[in-house]
Amino acid sequence: MSVEVRTRIAPSPTGFLHLGTARTAIFSWAYARHFGGRFVLRIEDTDVARSTPDAVAAIINGLAWLGLDADEGPVFQMERLDRYRAVVAGMLADGSAYFCYSTPDELEVAREAQRARGEKPRYDGRWRPEPGKVLPAVPPGVSPVVRFRNPPDGDVTWDDLVKGPITISNREIDDLIIVRADGVPTYNFCVVVDDWDMRITQVFRGDEHVNNTPWQINIFGALGAPLPRFGHVPVILGDDGLKLSKRRGAVSVLAYRDDGYLPEAMVNYLARLGWSHGDEELFTREQLVEWFDTRHLVKSAAHWDPKKLAWVNNHYIKAADDTRLATLVAPMMIARGVSPDAAHLASVIALMKDRCDTLVQVADAAMLFYREIAVAPELKAATVTSAIVPALADFAKEAATIEWTRAAIGASLKTVLAAHGLKMPQIAVPLRVLVAGRKETPSLDATLELFGRRRVIDAVTKGLDGIVGTVD
Ligand code: GLU
Repeated sequence: MSVEVRTRIAPSPTGFLHLGTARTAIFSWAYARHFGGRFVLRIEDTDVARSTPDAVAAIINGLAWLGLDADEGPVFQMERLDRYRAVVAGMLADGSAYFCYSTPDELEVAREAQRARGEKPRYDGRWRPEPGKVLPAVPPGVSPVVRFRNPPDGDVTWDDLVKGPITISNREIDDLIIVRADGVPTYNFCVVVDDWDMRITQVFRGDEHVNNTPWQINIFGALGAPLPRFGHVPVILGDDGLKLSKRRGAVSVLAYRDDGYLPEAMVNYLARLGWSHGDEELFTREQLVEWFDTRHLVKSAAHWDPKKLAWVNNHYIKAADDTRLATLVAPMMIARGVSPDAAHLASVIALMKDRCDTLVQVADAAMLFYREIAVAPELKAATVTSAIVPALADFAKEAATIEWTRAAIGASLKTVLAAHGLKMPQIAVPLRVLVAGRKETPSLDATLELFGRRRVIDAVTKGLDGIVGTVD
């Protein structure tokens, strides 16, 4: 019988949903979906002092925004304390864990002595039970920690799904604290119990956890639990070659949403950052699921490239349905003090979006149609010359009667041009200046259509007021 593929993302709720965590979530999700398995969300909130409900919300909202739907969870570690205690009790009973009463001061003295002897500082094993060893008398009034009795020698080896075979000697690792003196179990312990209970088959996570993995593998062994495969994903570096961090620009997934990136662009860009399928730079979620494999996860650090992300986002903005974009842009318009009609906004977006890398840029571009247009006097003087006034006046007259569609506006402009023996740019530039306050806009007939008959006629009539046209 084949084992069901089960992956998980296990963020600590201490800030926001980091881009690196989102990328790991994408890999875990795509792996599970590829094999028809299940993807679990676990919130690792045992660091009570640093965990906040806002951070939990940021994780859940960030994953939902990216469309990384979990099949199970969120499971909160703090709701599983009884389970961890039961496992610890079993380990204390079978000797794979033990109480340690060393105080922090004593530990520091021992480490100091090790350093003085030129040794690597580590737990000195004072409370570690050994056959025939007499342990110190339990000191009164000291709350003990619980330590894992790590195998004293031998190697821990695993075949990492990203990095390949990794071996670490047990001599390098000491007896890990699995329950703190306050009774709260630690990350490296809870993670094992959870991955065991949740029957996780593949663990994808950031490679800052490589050093934790030998402990975890040993704890799996002590519990007689089946070992998942591990895949440690390299860090994401910023432009400066340093780890992408808050100080060096936005690292929060939801900040990208607020800056006007589309979730499908983020999923595409993040997935490609650390994984490849041939030369494909643009792929749908379905393709990602179909193509995802661990053989093409990149071993080296990834470089965050804002220009490439902008290019990917532009692609998805162009491909997106305009009604959907209008829903996303509407709040940005409200923040800019206007509340356009949804259908009108969708048409404006269709006209303006091609050159926009973000929805914020789309909103800025769309404002052209919703704000008061002030025509700079110098621009008007330079472009609305007396020679063009009669043609503009004719167009304003025509505009009052024609059907107000792109095609009819275009046809009417051509008629006026022909009647006055003019070429398109001769009327297009002054018309744009009077209506839009600038010399460049997207296609003139479409722009005029979206400004609306009333605004166009008013702008032209008002603009011509006081300029005497030459008779042609
Ligand atoms: N809670 C850990 C973190 O936020 C993840 C640990 C894991 O995936 O095993 O880095």
